Amino acid sequence: MAKKTIKAKEEIITDDLVDTKEKETAPEEPLKLIVNGKRLDGRGFNDLRPIKIEAGVLERADGSAYVEFGDTHALAAVYGPRELHPRHLTEPQQAVLRVRYDMIPFSVGDRKRPGPDRRSIEISKVTREALEPVVFLKHYPKTGIDVFIEIVQADAGTRVAGITAASVALADAGIEMSDLVAACSAGKVDGEIVVDVNGAEDNNGEADVPVALSPKNNRITLLQMDGQLTEKEFDKALNYAVEGCKKIYQMQKDALKRKYSVLTEGLLENNNKGSE
Ligand code: ADP
Repeated sequence: MAKKTIKAKEEIITDDLVDTKEKETAPEEPLKLIVNGKRLDGRGFNDLRPIKIEAGVLERADGSAYVEFGDTHALAAVYGPRELHPRHLTEPQQAVLRVRYDMIPFSVGDRKRPGPDRRSIEISKVTREALEPVVFLKHYPKTGIDVFIEIVQADAGTRVAGITAASVALADAGIEMSDLVAACSAGKVDGEIVVDVNGAEDNNGEADVPVALSPKNNRITLLQMDGQLTEKEFDKALNYAVEGCKKIYQMQKDALKRKYSVLTEGLLENNNKGSE
């Protein structure tokens, strides 16, 4: 009886070893990102994730906005126009726009080391360049306008969510601009061009094309590409991203209108109470 038990145990042990060995040598199945013409989260190729945009979410900043592109959540705060420090950076003819993009340590699965790194410095720079063309910097000489973007939760497309939030926050701060900037990405997953890639698609996909657009000026203010696309695929990705930007632009305008209609209703109510 005891012998049988030992034998059974040996078999189990041998089986376990074979299993682990097979796992080690068997090639890992690539994750299928498109099943029956749908993406893993059920979206069609040209569908954006659920998007939420809110203006004026912070009491202490001059302007602010909160943006959700699915599980990517971004918060932007604007301070200024105000005296610039250090003073030697001041421009006599115009304002200096400064942008800091940052990922909060708990925004990703493994805690991210706090503080700037190469990636966040690059994204801060391209975000500033995406916003600068629409801001009337010459209206605010000798001042600084500071934009802070915090990624609260990251699931791909953080730079485009950040730019979208920053643009609404600038408008909320009352900074004069020729237009808003809306941003959206497109990419290639399982050989298909799709809009607004999520984390799984970004990690396992073939390309990512973030785009920022000023629709009124018909001007692209950010265009980057990670991965490889043919010329035809690139054109399709760019079209998808631009279409996405236009939808997001409408939501940005709605968010600003919502904020100011609430303020106007409040003012009217107070006026009515005063005249009673
Ligand atoms: P974007 O966020 O604009 O898509 P990237 O292509 O640089 O820019 O990053 C893709 C995604 O990778 C991010 O949105 C985020 O979900 C993830 N990611 C970036 N940095 C980190 C990090 N330090 N730790 C874990 N995930 C990260």
